[in-house]
Amino acid sequence: METRAGYPFRWQCRRSGNCCAIPGGFVRVDAGEAAAIAAFLGLDEAAFRSRYLQPDGERLKDGLGNRCVFLQDGAPAGCAIYPVRPAKCASFPFWPELRDDPELSARVQRTCPGLEPLP
Ligand code: SF4
Repeated sequence: METRAGYPFRWQCRRSGNCCAIPGGFVRVDAGEAAAIAAFLGLDEAAFRSRYLQPDGERLKDGLGNRCVFLQDGAPAGCAIYPVRPAKCASFPFWPELRDDPELSARVQRTCPGLEPLP
């Protein structure tokens, strides 16, 4: 399992997909990520932005419910853009806010089956 200095948990992905369907969650993408995802999907950037980004141009649209539009159901769950997924997704769960906010950290630890509090 993976650990990082300062983080109160250890982690190994179990591919539940739960981190891609957190109520109230969103996925921020920067311009470079948007271009990479568009190219990966074979779309020009304007078409990608219109189809997959919120009007602010900085966040992915939601799929059904609170799910990410690119979350693929199954056991294990998958990501339709995994090779070019945004940095925020690739760095989960080692986010500074999960290190620094005990309440948020506890909530995410209840959501993700791959997270275990350190003894
Ligand atoms: S882009 Fe992929 S890894 Fe990121 S939230 Fe969506 S399904 Fe999950």
